Amino acid sequence: MESITTGFEAYWFQFVDYWGEDFLLKYGTFFVHQIFYFAAYIPFFLCDFIPAFQKYKLQPTKRNDFKTQLNCLAKIFFTHVFVQLPMIIVFHPAIQMLGFRSRVPLPSLPNLIFVLAVSFLLEDFYFYWIHRLLHQGFWYKHIHKIHHDHSAPFGITAEYAHPIETLLLGVGTCLGPFLLTRDLFTLWSWLAIRLYQTVECHSGYDFPWNPTNFIPFWGGSHFHDFHHETFVGNYSSTFTYLDKLCGTSDKYYQRLTKRNENKEQKQK
Ligand SMILES: [Zn+2]
Ligand SMILES: [Zn+2]
Repeated sequence: MESITTGFEAYWFQFVDYWGEDFLLKYGTFFVHQIFYFAAYIPFFLCDFIPAFQKYKLQPTKRNDFKTQLNCLAKIFFTHVFVQLPMIIVFHPAIQMLGFRSRVPLPSLPNLIFVLAVSFLLEDFYFYWIHRLLHQGFWYKHIHKIHHDHSAPFGITAEYAHPIETLLLGVGTCLGPFLLTRDLFTLWSWLAIRLYQTVECHSGYDFPWNPTNFIPFWGGSHFHDFHHETFVGNYSSTFTYLDKLCGTSDKYYQRLTKRNENKEQKQK
């Protein structure tokens, strides 16, 4: 099977040769994480200055001022440098032991899509149960409460969390790539798409072009924003099926039904 594109593979090899495999395996993931996380947030941040987009705000009466966003940004940056970076360095021998490599042929597109899809399913399943546990007494009070500081979330609040929560949920992010691949390109592709998805979930905007409107069982910003607003239910990170099966999204769907009924009555 052909790799994604032969031309792109040549650029990838040039990139790997320039930085060196050891450096990329040890520190590259940290920088890639920084770039994708903040790049995913910038468009949503700019949306706040576009009046035409304000009708897509999920909680229009709650505004996050510049000071709140700056405060969140500072804390996130602190967590990234003093929690995530050491974590990446500590786990570097494990990455080496597992046999991760960067200078290997790029995956075929079907293979990449397969790994990404399975990674989403595994991460979502793991996230659901750990997140549900984090809403129990001790865990909520001492750990998860920090993530719920923002009842009307905005992009970068996605990783605004206690270091223990970062560690616990980070395991779920690693499950798919650790089980299914040994190439750094696939790992970074997964990281990029998962980071965009979690930033979108916390964006506070429900745009018509959001994946929720095209992918069945996809939660998205509307689904997760409800969790932040009400502090209960909708525990999944990506899909809606587990919450539906376990009855933890009933209140969310009751509200949707009520909202649709009100809309219909207004139109009559
Ligand atoms: Zn929560
Ligand atoms: Zn959240």
